[in-house]
Amino acid sequence: MIIRKAAFLQSNTKVDKLPSANKPEYAFIGRSNVGKSSLINMLTNKKQLAKTSSTPGKTITINHFIINDEWYLVDLPGYGFAQRSKKDRESWKVMLDSYIKNRKNLVCMFVLVDSRIEPQKIDLEFISHLGELQMPFGIIFTKVDKIKDAELQRNVQVYKDKLAEQWEELPPIFITSSEKEIGKDDVLNYIDNLNDQLKNVTF
Ligand code: GDP
Repeated sequence: MIIRKAAFLQSNTKVDKLPSANKPEYAFIGRSNVGKSSLINMLTNKKQLAKTSSTPGKTITINHFIINDEWYLVDLPGYGFAQRSKKDRESWKVMLDSYIKNRKNLVCMFVLVDSRIEPQKIDLEFISHLGELQMPFGIIFTKVDKIKDAELQRNVQVYKDKLAEQWEELPPIFITSSEKEIGKDDVLNYIDNLNDQLKNVTF
């Protein structure tokens, strides 16, 4: 897929204020610092589209971008939020659940994980939760330029083994580096194929 147009649309704190659910939507989520903003900027060819390194204390918002006038890309706040209060974390969890359950045009959720580290409990729990909600998802390994190929293969395999404990079929897995522009076409083509399949669907 060629990205001809990518623009910020809106940030919302409420699920009922989101843009009209009339286009396929793809959301990106992961722990803070995983490389989500960098990945979004790489995918859209815009250095500053998503703001890198979210400031702790910033309002938690659901951020919509419109791509090629055709689909929505959504930047979701990272989960975990070690620096935030329990109340803030709880309210984000409620908002996120409501978003996943009610957003009928949400096609796929991309869960970003750092390729350098072992599977984290918080990521695995979130992935299980997506399963409970029957939300299709893919896993995006980030920052692969920072490790050797053999280590990457090993880490991905560890992840697959972990997932296989719970899932009969593994989700799509993407290997990416925003620094080296690795994996961009894989993610975009995956979205493009899904968009094609949904061409005649009215949400
Ligand atoms: P976010 O908090 O998940 O949005 O993460 P950011 O995109 O702000 O990235 C966090 C840090 O990791 C920044 O210092 C980025 O420059 C760095 N980073 C992000 N992606 C990559 C990557 O693919 N390779 C390398 N080497 N660094 C990256």
